[in-house]
Amino acid sequence: MENRQVVFVKRPAGAVTPDCYELRDGAVPETGDGDVLVRNIYLSCDPYMRGQMDSDGGNKVAFPLEEVIPARVVGQVEKSRNADFKEGEFVWSFLGWELFTLAPGGEGLRKIDPSLGPISHAISVLGMPGLTAYVGMIDIGRPESDETVFVSAASGAVGQVAGQLAKLRGARVVGSAGSDAKVDHIVKTLGFDQGFNYKTVSSIGAALDETCPNGIDVYFDNVGGETLDEVLARINTHARLPICGQISQYDRIETGNTESIRNVSSILRAHATMRGFSVRDNMDQFDDYVTRMAALMKAGDVVYAEDIVDGIENAPAAFIDMMKGENLGKRLVRVGEDPTL
Ligand code: NAP
Repeated sequence: MENRQVVFVKRPAGAVTPDCYELRDGAVPETGDGDVLVRNIYLSCDPYMRGQMDSDGGNKVAFPLEEVIPARVVGQVEKSRNADFKEGEFVWSFLGWELFTLAPGGEGLRKIDPSLGPISHAISVLGMPGLTAYVGMIDIGRPESDETVFVSAASGAVGQVAGQLAKLRGARVVGSAGSDAKVDHIVKTLGFDQGFNYKTVSSIGAALDETCPNGIDVYFDNVGGETLDEVLARINTHARLPICGQISQYDRIETGNTESIRNVSSILRAHATMRGFSVRDNMDQFDDYVTRMAALMKAGDVVYAEDIVDGIENAPAAFIDMMKGENLGKRLVRVGEDPTL
């Protein structure tokens, strides 16, 4: 049994490139008293990881060079010297882009109940991205049945849940995404009322005028930049704007070359609330959220797409391509057999 790791070796200048990573083989760590060795199955690729590749870490701790990429992982207990974890149990935690990770003292490991759905869901719809959508849409967006809700990056890990939650509240929901296949998906499979491909429309403003003729009451922002600016020019009185992410700017933050927003005065005109949030402040809602969302999924009220790439050697490309929009749904990398399939 050998370990294989994706090691962070170079900070990107702009978009992430394959030479920021190196694949290295090595020994599987020894399991000491109290420790748990996890065989990793699904590795998460998340946009926030881009910020941690910069020297200032974005708003988090910078990834150290020459270390394995830290990430949320779903795995199976391979060896346990800890009474709380049995070999064969499924767990998720902050582990790393590697085949095996040692959890000293079992620290941070959370058990997965496979009866709730696919085990990969623990780091997608029943995990951090799903809770993010819930907090942003339900707690901050608070959509009502006669309102128009707009979601950007609408087919992604967070966006697809945000839009469906607003539909369940009876709102009219519009989404934008970067390909016709994604737009088809949000309308035909997820039940959004309308969508548009922001890369091919004549202008984002014109597409918003056409799809949101009564203005925008809730904007769930995943992308920032031009889309946010055009939304601001079209918000209704007392609009709510949960600011979840600004992915259009992530590759540009270190150079300071970020887009300026012109329509901020609309917030005053509309008595609107624009609120940035981090799911990290809401982890006390996690267990409740999982129970509620698992029930919605079982009832078929929420559906969820994952976009899974196989092979640890493909993890860097899986991340780079996700940042370019090549994923439809939550991007994961499967690095070992999932025995529940
Ligand atoms: P995702 O949507 O599954 O994947 C990222 C997507 O971003 C890509 O598929 C692409 O979709 C879109 N994108 C990339 N470059 C873009 C650009 N220049 N302009 C517009 N869209 C672009 O990722 P996710 O995990 O759901 O994350 C979505 C957002 O939520 C990110 O901004 C992320 O940082 C944020 N987030 C925030 C929190 C929090 O606690 N606040 C937690 C999780 C995630 P298209 O093909 O549609 O362009």
